[in-house]
Amino acid sequence: MTPGESWASNISWIVPVPPIEKTGTERSGTSDLAIILDHPKAQNMPGIDFDRLRREISMEQVLDLLGFEPTQRTGAQWYGACPLHGTSSGRARHFSVHIAKRRYCCHKCGSQGNQLELWAAFTQTLMHPAMIELCHALGREVPWIRRW
Ligand SMILES: [Zn+2]
Repeated sequence: MTPGESWASNISWIVPVPPIEKTGTERSGTSDLAIILDHPKAQNMPGIDFDRLRREISMEQVLDLLGFEPTQRTGAQWYGACPLHGTSSGRARHFSVHIAKRRYCCHKCGSQGNQLELWAAFTQTLMHPAMIELCHALGREVPWIRRW
């Protein structure tokens, strides 16, 4: 190739590209989270103290975020429509939650676990990003595990 051609064909690389303006404000609440998750070094992010979240975040808090309305309560055992697979039946009770034990189980879609796993299943993300999002949604700090 000739030097002239090379210069001409590569000139677009030299012209700085203006930064893409963010439009709208609908993502303003999660913009910092999006930056974290889009970061190329996200794999090297510090760990999250899941045990602490499991102790400190109640099942009611997660159910509240999911907009879950129990159709029946028997002590600490609540029943209702599954927020995961979706149902329109107002009297559904195939989804059962034990508030004190912080466990849930859906007899239709088979999903089960603790309150953190319920949130991860609802957001359809892995535990790590799901817990960051949950902390943001609850307005609390992410309990990072410092490894240094
Ligand atoms: Zn279900």
